[in-house]
Amino acid sequence: MIAESWRAARSSVPPGHLDAAGCNVPSDRTLDTVIGHLRHEREVGGYRAVPDLHASRAALAAMVGAGADDVAFLESGTAAMAALLGGWPLPPGSRVGVTRAEYGSTVMLLYRLARLRDWKLLELPVDDDSRLDPGGLASMLAGGLDLVVLSHVSSHRGVVQPAAAVGRLCRAAGVPLVLDVCQSLGHVDTGDAGATAYVGTSRKWLAGPRGAGFLVVPGLAGDMDAAAPALGGHEWARRDVPTFDGPGDGPGWVRGQAPVLDGPGWARGEVSPLAGAARYETSEGSIAARAGFGAAVLEHQALGPAAVHARLAELGVTARRLLDGIGGWRAGEPLDEPSAIVTLRPPPGVDPEAAVEDARSRAAEASLLIGTVPVGRAPADLPTPVLRISPSPGAYQEDLHALARVLDR
Ligand SMILES: *Cc1c(COP(=O)(O)O)cnc(C)c1O
Repeated sequence: MIAESWRAARSSVPPGHLDAAGCNVPSDRTLDTVIGHLRHEREVGGYRAVPDLHASRAALAAMVGAGADDVAFLESGTAAMAALLGGWPLPPGSRVGVTRAEYGSTVMLLYRLARLRDWKLLELPVDDDSRLDPGGLASMLAGGLDLVVLSHVSSHRGVVQPAAAVGRLCRAAGVPLVLDVCQSLGHVDTGDAGATAYVGTSRKWLAGPRGAGFLVVPGLAGDMDAAAPALGGHEWARRDVPTFDGPGDGPGWVRGQAPVLDGPGWARGEVSPLAGAARYETSEGSIAARAGFGAAVLEHQALGPAAVHARLAELGVTARRLLDGIGGWRAGEPLDEPSAIVTLRPPPGVDPEAAVEDARSRAAEASLLIGTVPVGRAPADLPTPVLRISPSPGAYQEDLHALARVLDR
């Protein structure tokens, strides 16, 4: 039923599409919303074409048990993570826990922030599947952590992390949890993690358009703010800034006061963030993409998230059972993992880069669109690049069989 409804909502899908984790296929309604909004911008003027996104915000937030005011739209998951962590007010010496399976650009960001702000990155204990070990996390929390950052499902490995248990432990220890749901929202249940903040993206399992990402921040504390203040999310707390009406023409004076800076009179600026997650939202961006994403979220809700999750888990398990071992390729996660991210590791004794690229291109010749994941996506966790098969709810079993034939050489 879910498969039929998903297909019926799309008048065309790329042939052999098995890349929902890379870029999913938007529905006709989502596409029409994007295009319709762009037309509306042209007809009435871009700044007058303001879509009402309240229902979309509320539906998105509800998926993690939050409210509409907790949502901020940005341009991508990466931009959302940078806005959130870049403005996180952790003092020098703070300890940030991450696993070795964390997403490459998040690790890059954390490296930079750790160096600039003197944070310490601590590796959280995982098992052989790189699944976070709750007992190990509990000991590390007892030893002192100031922040935990975790991808609920990785880009490079279809393991579903125990988000509910992690959320419980972090809350009990009073340690904020940032949960990256780029690969999990719309794919597996995210409702009971109780995280401080969620980072996500439009185009993957929620099948929105490219160019939109988001934060949901139900645990916003007073001193959390965006990495960079902006006019859309902030206001001048002091209205005497900047002024140029002081005495004389020297630099750095402010309304009759002594010069305070060696530049023009900008020195006394005080900026305060708007209430809620609005502080993180960029005011300029693809509003059409945000509107289209909103439509996709509402469609996902109408389809029934629990049924979508069940269908995706079933497809993932079917694909792993079918593909594991074929041509020497081995699944990178337990065969019964309830996710639709299926990774395949190259056979031993071959050049892994060449094998992955060769398999991808032979799949393309057979009209199958699959992904490949380079080592840089998770350098501490991926010994070689892998193939990634990620069916959407409407995927055809025949395509999985066709892929099995491609790999069986
Ligand atoms: C895709 C992804 C991101 C980044 O999202 P973008 O929208 O591509 O910037 C972050 N984390 C994970 C786990 C991802 O899969």
